[in-house]
Amino acid sequence: MTAQAVLATPATLDAVALRSDFPTLRRTINGHPLVYLDSAATSQKPQVVIDRMNQFYAEEYSTVRRSIHLLSAKATQAYEGTRRTVAQFLNAPETRQIIFTKGTTEGINLVAHGYGRKFIGAGDEIIISATEHHANIVPWQMLCEEKGAHLRVIPVDDRGELILEAYEQMLTERTKLVAIGHISNALGTIHPVEDIIRLAHAHGVPVLVDGAQAAPHMPVDVQALDCDFYVFSGHKACGPTGIGVLYGKVELLERMNPFLGGGDMIETVTFEKTTYAPLPHKFEAGTPAIAEVIGLGAALDYLRGIGLEAIATYEHQLLEQATARLSSIPGVRIIGTAQRKAAIVSFTVDGIHPHDIGTLLDQEGIAIRAGHHCAQPVMARYGVPATARASFAFYNLPSEVEALGVAIEKTIAVFAL
Ligand SMILES: *Cc1c(COP(=O)(O)O)cnc(C)c1O
Repeated sequence: MTAQAVLATPATLDAVALRSDFPTLRRTINGHPLVYLDSAATSQKPQVVIDRMNQFYAEEYSTVRRSIHLLSAKATQAYEGTRRTVAQFLNAPETRQIIFTKGTTEGINLVAHGYGRKFIGAGDEIIISATEHHANIVPWQMLCEEKGAHLRVIPVDDRGELILEAYEQMLTERTKLVAIGHISNALGTIHPVEDIIRLAHAHGVPVLVDGAQAAPHMPVDVQALDCDFYVFSGHKACGPTGIGVLYGKVELLERMNPFLGGGDMIETVTFEKTTYAPLPHKFEAGTPAIAEVIGLGAALDYLRGIGLEAIATYEHQLLEQATARLSSIPGVRIIGTAQRKAAIVSFTVDGIHPHDIGTLLDQEGIAIRAGHHCAQPVMARYGVPATARASFAFYNLPSEVEALGVAIEKTIAVFAL
């Protein structure tokens, strides 16, 4: 029986029990038990995901779609089974709206190529926000450069909340797309994507939501959001690397050009003309990441078994504890103090470079991230080159939050010598 089977009530979770599902969390680092506070960069993997992928390679391995033999039929079943799992996970109306990608980055690039290059032209505008990950900035910049279009950026206030009045004024007949992060990986802000989508739709503008930080940490319902595209990565959601998801509305996906050309995305090929396969295969050229797709299915089943509502509630408790603990340390400044926040705490310590904080915490077995978090414009907005960032998952414990506080105090004491 896995730990998730013994959970008491759906509203809470037993993090101590769940930790036993994660082999990595049993190891030591520099002589200390690992305290893994870098889940916003990538999450650890439960044994069920590792086992499912091993089982596929050891006992079921074959390619998908192309062959008529039994193994291939079974692999195809498992592969397409994950598509149903993802559709349920996001509450997508139809499975053909789920496209497998390499990750969030590829999902956004797919939309930039398939939608952007076809429907966005000179003088048009794309709106993003000042808190975006580079993955939701650079593809749009490249598109703007190619087409002579313009990027508009929703500003943030000192707490890390988007200034919606400024956004409303940006929406004009020139706006062709809004691309917005659901949760900022650098600040933790949960953006009001419902309002952003509603306002965009009032102008007939489609919205892409970058859900890399949201899908693993809170319930996501693409129909309730009414977003036009939603993307996330498997590796931040307890799944393998190299796999991600793009959800799209059918009418948009059908009007889009394919991103990559090749095998499996065609209906017929002649040297004069190729016709494309129907959704979702039109966007899945070549042999896909089969084991990773199957592993992703196991990961999303695992998360749903715990319950996304319970995960969000539990992680919010860790956030409150961490915010209070770090705020109590003189010299620590938390960057990102929005009302609605996910369990991500970016901070600086007076007189100590974030990289030094990260290095010294590592000596204590505490893994955090230090740097610009692939969000250099955010760092510039708050006047810092980098921050230290502790990010939490449902497998973290209150005792680990305390260990972080103690280790930061120790770091400050060392630097004071
Ligand atoms: C991690 C992250 C990305 C990029 O995800 P990849 O898995 O590296 O493609 C994009 N946006 C946000 C908000 C992220 O946190």
